[in-house]
Amino acid sequence: MGNPKGFLEIKRKEAGYRPVRDRIGDFGEVEQTLNLEDRIDQASRCMDCGIPFCHWACPTSSKIPEWQDAIYRENWEEAAQILQSTNSFPEFTGRVCPAPCEKSCVLSLHNSPVTIRENEASVIEKAFDYGYIKARPVAKRTGKKVAIIGSGPAGLSVADLLNQAGHSVTVFERDDAIGGLLRYGIPDFKLDKHVIDRRLELFVEEGIEFKTNQDIGVNVSFADLEKEYDAICLAIGAMKPRDLPIEGRDLSGIHFAMDFLKQQNKVVRGDEFSKQERISAKGKNVVVIGGGDTGSDCVGTSVRQKAKSVLQIELLPKPPAEREEHNPWPYWPNTLRTSSLIWKDVKDVGL
Ligand code: SF4
Repeated sequence: MGNPKGFLEIKRKEAGYRPVRDRIGDFGEVEQTLNLEDRIDQASRCMDCGIPFCHWACPTSSKIPEWQDAIYRENWEEAAQILQSTNSFPEFTGRVCPAPCEKSCVLSLHNSPVTIRENEASVIEKAFDYGYIKARPVAKRTGKKVAIIGSGPAGLSVADLLNQAGHSVTVFERDDAIGGLLRYGIPDFKLDKHVIDRRLELFVEEGIEFKTNQDIGVNVSFADLEKEYDAICLAIGAMKPRDLPIEGRDLSGIHFAMDFLKQQNKVVRGDEFSKQERISAKGKNVVVIGGGDTGSDCVGTSVRQKAKSVLQIELLPKPPAEREEHNPWPYWPNTLRTSSLIWKDVKDVGL
């Protein structure tokens, strides 16, 4: 902890999003960045708590206070090393993680936690800019071969760790590109796909093999995999949407979120679809059922496709805007709040 009075002297400052009128006109990332001085100030707000609740709440057990201190000392290489010691992809989590670390940060008692997620994204982007993130050659191979089925974040993390342990890893993906939900489930305005490609290039250099259009059990036999590999890891998503078997479900114009989002991500990539295939919200009154992250992504995509109106419906009550005394972490926030924030912005521009 570089500055013991950091959180007393410096207020939380978020980088914020690009102005609404700009960002709804394209599919570029919405989040902005802070300047260097502000970012270091934000890291200095971390108190290096004796009991770092942020670390406990983080699904990757990130050593958060340690890399905040490295940011404060402007040692971006060290900060990135600490980050990557528990997480293969800080550039993904720094962009799209709902940040339970911040909800559990001691400073959130006063609703101004350390900007942990943004700090994470800054560290890894600086580390890439300065050339600290390079392919790590594997010194010794074990001779063991592992097949990983599925190339989403879980499959890629497993691939990274097993490859670094010396095993020869091949990742099999059913789709036409690597990344799973990162590639096709998350819109470009939250995660630009060059961020995935940049990491994949390093993995290829490190020796991981990727195979696309491999539908195990359909055009690739599981028995063949068993013969060729010493171990097989299943890292597949369910890809089974929750349907609503209610009256009118079979009417036209009703789509599952993933079909809608995936197609838009492909369009951003440059793919073309016929009029019959295209799922477009342009000029339509859109209803999004579901208020989680995926619902939010559908709202953002519909707005960018120039929907006439967008209405989002959520089963649960609207969560409180701020943490309340009777409702501390881990009970708050028990619902992600991205959708309501975006909906507020949509109303702001009069859609
Ligand atoms: S809980 Fe907050 S202030 Fe404490 S160590 Fe974690 S990030 Fe720093």
